[in-house]
Amino acid sequence: MPTRMLLLLVRSTGGLEAVNVWFSIVKNKVFCTRGVMTTVNFARTTASKELLKLVFQSIDAQSCPRCFNFHMHTVYSDGRLQPNTLMEQAIAIGLQGFAITDHHSIDGYQVAQTWLENWKWNNPGANAPHLWSGVEINANLLNTEVHILGYAFDPEEPSITPYIQRTATTDEDYEAEAVIAAIQQAGGLAVLAHPARYKRSHFELIPASAVAGIDGVETFYAYNNPNPWRPSALESLQVQQLAGEYGLFNTCGTDTHGLSLLQRL
Ligand SMILES: [Zn+2]
Ligand SMILES: [Zn+2]
Repeated sequence: MPTRMLLLLVRSTGGLEAVNVWFSIVKNKVFCTRGVMTTVNFARTTASKELLKLVFQSIDAQSCPRCFNFHMHTVYSDGRLQPNTLMEQAIAIGLQGFAITDHHSIDGYQVAQTWLENWKWNNPGANAPHLWSGVEINANLLNTEVHILGYAFDPEEPSITPYIQRTATTDEDYEAEAVIAAIQQAGGLAVLAHPARYKRSHFELIPASAVAGIDGVETFYAYNNPNPWRPSALESLQVQQLAGEYGLFNTCGTDTHGLSLLQRL
């Protein structure tokens, strides 16, 4: 398998910092086998976001749920999984990278992050998956309630604080533009969740979200809860075409609320 090293130059508060990232790249796609994506301790949010952009560029219909997963809930919102159980499953599946996206909460993410640090300590040299910060936020877009996913933000940044209080915001904080700006000001990326699941069509909502500054759309999503999980063919294709038209990242996620990361409900 051809292996290539990507050298990321990341501008951070300390100046220009070199971060080595190893990928096995086959035909420009991140190839998902255990231990392929090894990252060197991403301490800084900036580096974490740059890595996420690279990964988002590689996402296709096969990426979720066994290589990556960018949409999962825990008991810290309306999910049934404890963060520690979620982490055990993530390791068992062999996920390379993922995010926990509880509604208006990062508590589950923080428990999982601690679990992962301990796991790394106890498994020196093992290929650990990358866990990005994540959250799912209610917002108004075209007089429709939509969900906006935030990733790789710094939870300490004040702009994100109103959105991680375990309850939806109101008034101007509830507008999609404000939610997207808050995520981006905190150093993160904003993604429109399940674009074909709202009262208004994705053909209206995706262009409007692009105008509001969105970075990506959750292209690969299972709208009819199939078992095993697989993205809905027609909706995914339509969303992927719109993402191309508006220059947005494609992402994927199971939106797990139940006890298996390979299922939605
Ligand atoms: Zn949602
Ligand atoms: Zn969700």
